[in-house]
Amino acid sequence: MNFHSMNNQLKNAYNPETFRALGHELIDLLANHLEQTINGKSKVINWKTPTEQLRYWQDNLGKEQSLKELFSDILNNSTAIHHPKYAGHQVGATVPVAALADLLGALINNGMAIYEMGAASSAIEKVVTELICRQIGYDNESDGFITSGGSLANLTALLAARKAKSDKDTWMEGNNEKLGVMVSSEAHYCIDRALRIMGFGNKGIIKIPVNKNFSMNTDLLEENLQAALKQGIKVIAVAGSAPSTATGMYDNLLETGRFCKKHNLWFHVDGAHGGAAIFSSKYRHLLHGLEMADSVVIDAHKMMMTPVLTTFLLFKNKNHSYATFNQNAQYLFSQQGDEEWYNYAKRTFECTKLMMGVRFYAIIKAHGTNIFDEFVTRQYDIGRAFAKVINQHPAFELLLPPDSNIICFRYRRKNLSEKSLNNLNATLRQRILEDGKFYIVQTQIAGNTWFRISIMSPFTEIATLEELLQYITELADNDYAQVDSDTNGKDDKC
Ligand SMILES: *Cc1c(COP(=O)(O)O)cnc(C)c1O
Repeated sequence: MNFHSMNNQLKNAYNPETFRALGHELIDLLANHLEQTINGKSKVINWKTPTEQLRYWQDNLGKEQSLKELFSDILNNSTAIHHPKYAGHQVGATVPVAALADLLGALINNGMAIYEMGAASSAIEKVVTELICRQIGYDNESDGFITSGGSLANLTALLAARKAKSDKDTWMEGNNEKLGVMVSSEAHYCIDRALRIMGFGNKGIIKIPVNKNFSMNTDLLEENLQAALKQGIKVIAVAGSAPSTATGMYDNLLETGRFCKKHNLWFHVDGAHGGAAIFSSKYRHLLHGLEMADSVVIDAHKMMMTPVLTTFLLFKNKNHSYATFNQNAQYLFSQQGDEEWYNYAKRTFECTKLMMGVRFYAIIKAHGTNIFDEFVTRQYDIGRAFAKVINQHPAFELLLPPDSNIICFRYRRKNLSEKSLNNLNATLRQRILEDGKFYIVQTQIAGNTWFRISIMSPFTEIATLEELLQYITELADNDYAQVDSDTNGKDDKC
């Protein structure tokens, strides 16, 4: 390739007319995809093993293919989150205007780190962040920002907690104090990971057992605090889950907040999934006490229908958000009132970051904030209704009545041991995955295998989920003979 032709290739790549034409084709393709998936006409997932999938795309790279063909190929080999029969992991069905906002962001590529690299999006981020703060019930002292994912947001919040509550300046001097954080044993693994990154180790991660409702047993906070003190561990924070990931149950935030206040601890709430209930007039009560939290994480890409990743990290006292990554321990006192809200890199782990606020702003402009109330309330309502259906079904067992749109249940058959039941449920889940008619996941609870669904699509109806139960029953009838002979009937007597 000579210099001249390379030059032409480069210029061609930016041809606005080509972009216009391809862009129209892509939007048509996506609109068709949306139409098909929300009507449940296609499969949720066209299953290939990871090895088959890899081979497919390796071979495909050298093949002649139009961009339109490539894009439909990608759609056919991707999971259809908008599908009514998608009820797997907690990723929201993107509202189309938010996807369009993303396309705009992708093309103009304003990198946000400092104000001039995203003037509109920096201001927009502040507008939507303040809106969330008000919805939490925070006063004017609060502030926050948007960052890439709940995992990073939790790490950032815990760093802020350490800065605020430790007697030493770990940022400058390194770890020379034994610190601890108390968190439910059911909390998302990213909290554990964040604390290990921060050097807390096993002893500093104080897991509080859950009660029979799978929410943190707040009665045990006091004795765990005292036990940590005796071991020379300075507890700096308690993290509540709203809700926890596996079972979708909310911790008692009011009790946790009161405990933190009494002992002068940082109160963090991981509301990655269910913090969005601040918008639901019917389910807001699940977040009672949230306004006491020093920091709150809410993923908009879970229950507020933005593209991944869009995570709000909010602080009751905005000064903490400016102190987290600041070298100067005196910063809080020397520069109060003089924060540069518009230079986000000062407060986030990220330097360059996506124009995430624009997605959220576009949803509000197009549909109003009521859409969040409508969505959260509808999904949580369906969760409760489905739990009742499971309870009345002789072949299924409900783990517990749900707080949210996350429901754990399993298929049962008389005279089967726990081990055989676990095998049977795991086999069924694999069949469901490979069939691709529905998408659900599984989880281990107290050593046993349960189906776990998150009702994420606004198009999932109770009838859809009744069909799921019917379908699982049929699969089980087909598979039973096999599972029975696999275990040779031996387990049944255990
Ligand atoms: C999903 C989830 C996370 C992780 O958030 P990401 O955005 O996936 O990084 C953390 N905590 C809870 C409770 C979650 O549900």
